[in-house]
Amino acid sequence: MSKLHLITYGCQMNEYDSERVAGLLRQSDYELTDRAEDADLIILNTCSIREKAEDKVYSQLGALKHLKRANPELVIGVMGCMAQLQQGRIQERAPYVDLVFGSPAIARVQDLVARVRRERRPVLETGEGPLIKITARPQGAGRLKAFVTVMEGCEKHCTFCVVPTTRGRERSHPPAVIVQEIRELVAQGCREVTLLGQTVNAYGRDLAPAIDLADLLEQVDGIPGLARIRFTTSNPYNLTPRLMRAIRDVPKVMEYLHLPLQSGSDRILERMNRGYTRARYLELIAELRETVPDIALSTDLILGFPGETDDDFEQTVDMVERVAYDNVFAFRYSRRPGTPAADMPDQVPDAVKAERNTRILEVATRVGAARSRALEGRVVDILVEGVSRKHAHEATGRTPCNRVVNLDPEGRDLTGEVVPVRIRQALPHSLRGELVDGARRSTGSAA
Ligand code: SAM
Repeated sequence: MSKLHLITYGCQMNEYDSERVAGLLRQSDYELTDRAEDADLIILNTCSIREKAEDKVYSQLGALKHLKRANPELVIGVMGCMAQLQQGRIQERAPYVDLVFGSPAIARVQDLVARVRRERRPVLETGEGPLIKITARPQGAGRLKAFVTVMEGCEKHCTFCVVPTTRGRERSHPPAVIVQEIRELVAQGCREVTLLGQTVNAYGRDLAPAIDLADLLEQVDGIPGLARIRFTTSNPYNLTPRLMRAIRDVPKVMEYLHLPLQSGSDRILERMNRGYTRARYLELIAELRETVPDIALSTDLILGFPGETDDDFEQTVDMVERVAYDNVFAFRYSRRPGTPAADMPDQVPDAVKAERNTRILEVATRVGAARSRALEGRVVDILVEGVSRKHAHEATGRTPCNRVVNLDPEGRDLTGEVVPVRIRQALPHSLRGELVDGARRSTGSAA
């Protein structure tokens, strides 16, 4: 068997794509190796969302150069968003790269690698392609949790973002194909799926007949053996009361929503082309909390978007306090060539972005810790994922709101089981809990 070393950067969708590539190449007799030095084929699955992500790839390519020199038979490939956006630059900066292909070409990866070997010259494949659901997985992929891409592309055209260019227009996979894929995952031991899409709550509107994410959640809920369903990323613009009710009513859907705000200032939201105001966002949060009182919320924020003043930033801070997010992912604005924001005046200096980033994280940590402490004393359902990384005698799992809980499994192997746990203590990065007798479950509610 030949050996494949796969390095993945960026989002969950990339992790999913990497698994597809490993699965397809397994059919061509490639097995995965953790060691780049042992590989016959190295593929970097790349991310373009921020400049830093791209820098990492170029420095990794630099580090791989000596392997290619020592072994000219080694094939090096670059896939994903950078491949789509920067094929010319990749060839310029790393001429020893043999293969560059975008996500539409993943289904043809076996042919592409064979072509490189046969023709002994670089192969570039970054055009559009038909929407294909690939379900191949690498050996031993039977895990408790899996990502499942339900739609590709994005048509939102936020002024900061490269995704519409790198991943093309929105296309949904038919529900029957998704359900089949999840059935197969469950047959291999999967208990939790996260449905992925750049605007996952716009799922299905391009299908005939059109359906929506709430319909899909119901269909996935019907899969026996599956315990939990999550989905990401939702856009506030497409958040409907129907989806809110689905979060409440569809039993396996976790009461958790990742809802990127990006900025708390109307002026900046408009410049970002996000399609909502802070008042509209707050209205949605109020409606969500009314429908699903225990819902956990997380968000993405961009700090230092062009033209962001101290006052704009304070409005973002204010939103973090008001919404009381469980978790915040904060990013310093990164100027992406070809996007409208890259050419906007009033670019914010790096030092200011860094300061705002530090400040927002302080506020977010305080607010998140308060949400975490509110769980103390409550009984929540935990999906046990295995043993704790720090203490081998402890079990570790996650709450519906996706917080890590460590607990004493009382000598039992609970991996893969959903068990009721009383939260005893909220620590900065995790919770401590103890098993409760199943009969006492009804005394608390799931959080
Ligand atoms: N499609 C999702 C949405 O629009 O909400 C998000 C997808 S993106 C992979 C994840 C996050 O990266 C975004 O929510 C945004 O906060 C951040 N991001 C995107 N472009 C960025 C940029 N140019 N600079 C900094 N952060 C960026």
